[in-house]
Amino acid sequence: MSIEENVALVRRNIASAAAEAGRNAGEILLVAATKMNDAGRIQRAIAAGVDVCGENRVQEMLEKNALGAYRGAPLHFIGHLQKNKVRQVVGLAALIHSVHSRELLEEISQIAEKRGIIQDVLLEVNIGGEASKSGFSPEDIPAALEFSARLPALRTRGLMAIPPICAFPEENRPYFLRMKQLFVDNAAKKYDNVCMDFLSMGMSGDYTEAVNCGANMVRVGSAIFGARVYD
Ligand SMILES: *Cc1c(COP(=O)(O)O)cnc(C)c1O
Repeated sequence: MSIEENVALVRRNIASAAAEAGRNAGEILLVAATKMNDAGRIQRAIAAGVDVCGENRVQEMLEKNALGAYRGAPLHFIGHLQKNKVRQVVGLAALIHSVHSRELLEEISQIAEKRGIIQDVLLEVNIGGEASKSGFSPEDIPAALEFSARLPALRTRGLMAIPPICAFPEENRPYFLRMKQLFVDNAAKKYDNVCMDFLSMGMSGDYTEAVNCGANMVRVGSAIFGARVYD
């Protein structure tokens, strides 16, 4: 199937998962995970109606941005961010999904402050408690939000998670539901510079489950662009 047909199919699947959960599909943002796809393919996805482009690697993002790959859609950074690359991402990405430490929060705020901007971020939650993944533990989220509230050039917009790899999408439901609960509980508290708007979870294999459990941002790559070929 073509990129255009895939985007339409993903939209339909989001709409039915939303309807099943009694939600409005219009509140769910489709982030195209564009890694390893060139500017031409990304432009087709944007024309087909994805809401956002999400890029993983800083160097790849800079190169493709210079070619106008993301023209017509907001750009988000969704990959693992290293401290020494923060200055290349701040201000270019409208939202950084994957902030996984206090150190990174501080660095982002410092650089944004120097540039006179406010950077929007999500806190990444290691919802499966996996040693191989970065992210805040669920228990640490209230303190991390308090910490981020004190940083002047940062605005925390919500939470993001990548649950453990599993054989069947239903297996992720407990993680997605736990994320939704964490999101709701923490949205109820009021912190400065924190607006809990976005819950980013769900990828090609499980985005309908994620929507069903309350995601309002899904990050979909291969279901739009086809399987990635790694060499
Ligand atoms: C690649 C990637 C996705 C999308 O993965 P697919 O399985 O291809 O949909 C989502 N989120 C992040 C952080 C990614 O790196």
